[in-house]
Amino acid sequence: MASAADLFSLQEIDLALDHARDRLVVIEEEIQEPDELRELRQVQEEKESVVAGLRSRQKDAEDEVEQVRSKANQIETKLYSGKVTSPKELTDLNDDLRSLKELTAKREDRLLTLLVETDEADGDLSSTKSRLSAAAGEWQARRDQLLAEERELKPEVERLQSSREAAVSGIDPASLKLYQLLRERKAGQAVAHVERGMCGGCRITLPMSVLQKARSGTGLTQCVSCERILLVT
Ligand SMILES: [Zn+2]
Repeated sequence: MASAADLFSLQEIDLALDHARDRLVVIEEEIQEPDELRELRQVQEEKESVVAGLRSRQKDAEDEVEQVRSKANQIETKLYSGKVTSPKELTDLNDDLRSLKELTAKREDRLLTLLVETDEADGDLSSTKSRLSAAAGEWQARRDQLLAEERELKPEVERLQSSREAAVSGIDPASLKLYQLLRERKAGQAVAHVERGMCGGCRITLPMSVLQKARSGTGLTQCVSCERILLVT
């Protein structure tokens, strides 16, 4: 027959096990990458593709400016070479040159607008990158902490499990059954201390006969109100 003290020792082990296992569950959840980080990474990818698109448009715009500029240069060279003498041809070349210069100016304006847009998008991307890197650093540090705690808890759970097996081996099946049943019903607390004549579980003042039986240590005595196993120390 198990004593209330035996069951109390078992309860201490079980409560420590409950605590360690609950903590491991919380760690398992907290160790996952936070949504904020995943979202920031996605935002960064989107901004990178915006910058890449702008850079490619910028490159095209630069080529287009270069094309009209070199065409204008060719015409200018021809115009001032002294080789063209026909007034009609000279007028045509002048007209061509003017319109090419206008086109160059237009294309340069467009390029400038793109340069400003690229610059802004670049700044935007850099600030997202620093936010992501700060958030990632924070999470990494938190994760390392949690992993270290997990590394300590796992062997602790194993140690508690062996202690539990040893403790259970000395307890008779009927007492163990009662203990398990009460633990399920009383949020893990199957055994309660008697404190100044009161049940430590539900605070009721215990009848003298119950107190005497609990003090005698013969068999298990349960609280008349909450049914917890009473332990007198
Ligand atoms: Zn009670």
